[in-house]
Amino acid sequence: MTLSHGRSYLAIPGPTVVPDAVLRAMHRASPNIYEGDLIDMTWSLIPDLRAIARTSGKVAIYISNGHGTWEAALANVLAPGDTILSLVTGRFGVGWADMAEKRGLSVDRLDFGMASPVDLDLFEDRLRADKEHRIKAVLATHTDTSSSARSDMAGLRAALDATGHPALLMADCIASMACDRFEMDEWGVDLAVAASQKGLMMTPGLGFVWFGDKAIAARARLDRVSSYWDWTPRADPEGFYQLFAGTAPTHLLHGLRAALDLIMDEGIENVWARHETLARAVWAAVEAWGAGDGVMRLNIADPAHRSHAVTSISLPAPDGDRLRRWTEDMAGVTLGVGLGMAEPGSPNAGAHFRLGHMGHVNAHMLMGALGVMEAGLVALDVPRGDGGLSAAAEVIGKRA
Ligand SMILES: *Cc1c(COP(=O)(O)O)cnc(C)c1O
Repeated sequence: MTLSHGRSYLAIPGPTVVPDAVLRAMHRASPNIYEGDLIDMTWSLIPDLRAIARTSGKVAIYISNGHGTWEAALANVLAPGDTILSLVTGRFGVGWADMAEKRGLSVDRLDFGMASPVDLDLFEDRLRADKEHRIKAVLATHTDTSSSARSDMAGLRAALDATGHPALLMADCIASMACDRFEMDEWGVDLAVAASQKGLMMTPGLGFVWFGDKAIAARARLDRVSSYWDWTPRADPEGFYQLFAGTAPTHLLHGLRAALDLIMDEGIENVWARHETLARAVWAAVEAWGAGDGVMRLNIADPAHRSHAVTSISLPAPDGDRLRRWTEDMAGVTLGVGLGMAEPGSPNAGAHFRLGHMGHVNAHMLMGALGVMEAGLVALDVPRGDGGLSAAAEVIGKRA
């Protein structure tokens, strides 16, 4: 028997659930890309994108996934041979650093492992040791989606200021944008990247790079930037066609408009508060299941450093994988695979999985996913503490 027939729920940390209003907005005939509604609608996206990232700086939109925005960010402010410092708090930090290396940058790494945020003291020590200011940029992942560690971006800026270090602060906000509070200007972040298919509730296909004055100055020092990635014409176009260096991603833009309407109507503060409440409900459930003889664990020990967008969880191998399979096959909820937590074939492979709670997720969806996880623990006879669902309901009931 399977109990999976009914509306399924993709609870992986991206791509996320696309709201019906967004799907409807994309269901239309191709528009004229030379004049008409598409053009006015597209301009209207810019102020909302800046508002969501909390910046008065500029934003460039790319037809790309998150990896494209990594490339765009590197291409616009760094030249081959430049040194950067990469702060690694999970697989995605590794990925951005590797890409930088392939672009010919010299990459210093501070690796905090798979279960910790950036250690600000170690970061500050590294900055102080760089007396000649060889480091041109610091790459940080706000929420690393593999570990679900969230780093203190304002703290990174404070360390740069305390040491008088001039490096650019560049943030990967692909998992955190419109989920975890992010204050680009107030926190002194010079450049931030995000993609459409996570907290922004769209399909994959659009990437965003926000940048401020220091990043603009860094761009101005470069002799050349490959013309497709160059953000200058995209952010300050003389004509509409320059925004996308070619044909506009027509339907994606309509979908994005509808998604931004949802965010603006809810209000970004409320969006962040909803994510925090849902995240705290997940933590409460997992902590209850892990109590006593329970074997389930949250990957990040300190709540202050846990993302509100995704939670990385472990069960002794292979029960993490078995639970994930069970929830999908038997109950219509797809959990995310563990990423970068254990070498394939190692004793820990299959121990980790992830619950995405980013974007278009409300209390009933989250309680449904948690309820199905508890049913899976029963079905698979995994040792567990009692009261996971009541603990989650308690959080939601008290905070709502
Ligand atoms: C998803 C994600 C990426 C990669 O984005 P793609 O769209 O898959 O290229 C990079 N960084 C973080 C933090 C992510 O969550």
